[in-house]
Amino acid sequence: MLKDLFIGLSQNQFLNSTAKKYGLKMGAQSVVAGTNIEEAIKSIKELNAYGISCTVDNLGEFVFKEEEATAAKEQILNVIEAIHANKVDAHISLKPTQLGLDIDYYFCLNNLKEIVDRANVYDIFVNLDMEDYGHLKPSFDLLDELSMEYNNVGTVIQAYFFEAQENLEKYKNYRLRIVKGAYKEPEKYAYQEKREIDKNFIKLIEWHLLNGKFTSIATHDHRIINHVKEFVKKNDIPNDKFEFQMLYGFRKDLQLKLASEGYNFCTYVPFGNDWYGYFMRRLAERPQNLNLVAKQVFNK
Ligand code: FAD
Repeated sequence: MLKDLFIGLSQNQFLNSTAKKYGLKMGAQSVVAGTNIEEAIKSIKELNAYGISCTVDNLGEFVFKEEEATAAKEQILNVIEAIHANKVDAHISLKPTQLGLDIDYYFCLNNLKEIVDRANVYDIFVNLDMEDYGHLKPSFDLLDELSMEYNNVGTVIQAYFFEAQENLEKYKNYRLRIVKGAYKEPEKYAYQEKREIDKNFIKLIEWHLLNGKFTSIATHDHRIINHVKEFVKKNDIPNDKFEFQMLYGFRKDLQLKLASEGYNFCTYVPFGNDWYGYFMRRLAERPQNLNLVAKQVFNK
């Protein structure tokens, strides 16, 4: 119930646009690394100092106007320039809808091409984050077209989709991030039960570790992380074939522990004014994250 409520709130366009005007609120500041690139670079440098690399998300979604998508593209180009200028260990994560996928497919493709092209000049990887089912097919189409010209792109496989294994096999030669899946999806397309999603998640991770190019295992679930540690040991999978990923501000102790144990670790660093939808999805995933809100309210 709570999950549905927060997913609903995350998709409310009025609240999303209102929140942009007021800066980080409700405890979002502990999971969003600031509203501007300078603050994000400072956080990235701190994480890099612990041997942790970063993937940077200049937050944005629900873009229905060309000028907003163009502004988002310019901001992401600035992030690429900042990564290069500051010599930090970081790459880009972005959402196709942020760059106009809901406006026009080719407009979005051209925006993406400009970004991937600039990133390619500096040897920076670009990850196409995956959104809800309605955007799944066009997002893979974008990846197909981008990879005709560039090899610094990859994407995400969401374990709750029945078609996840098929997509994994099709894209096995890409650097892939494997996740459980963050959106509310219809029963027709996706597992609904946590037990089934977890089972498929493990199956996909194991398959890609054995058959794929590079696997980013993106989860805060210590049971799955421990399972992967055992699996790679048993199957002699070298550390340079995979990394663990977690979101900025979550389980920091575990992030540092995994990095100190010698595993490649990458933190997903979101920043920007468009924090509301991202923050609501984090509350949907784990209602305990409401503690962040409570602390903020009672510390006033
Ligand atoms: P959950 O299933 O939420 O939790 C499992 C268990 O782990 C919990 O019961 C608890 O024991 C433990 N746990 C979890 N969180 C905590 C915590 N904060 N503190 C202590 N214990 C905890 N989704 C998409 O749909 N598209 C994307 O592109 C995408 N990119 C992502 C990138 C990254 C780096 C990450 C980490 C997630 C991404 N997600 C994405 C979200 C993902 O799909 C899940 O919704 C999200 O990660 C929650 O699932 P989980 O695997 O972390 O663990």
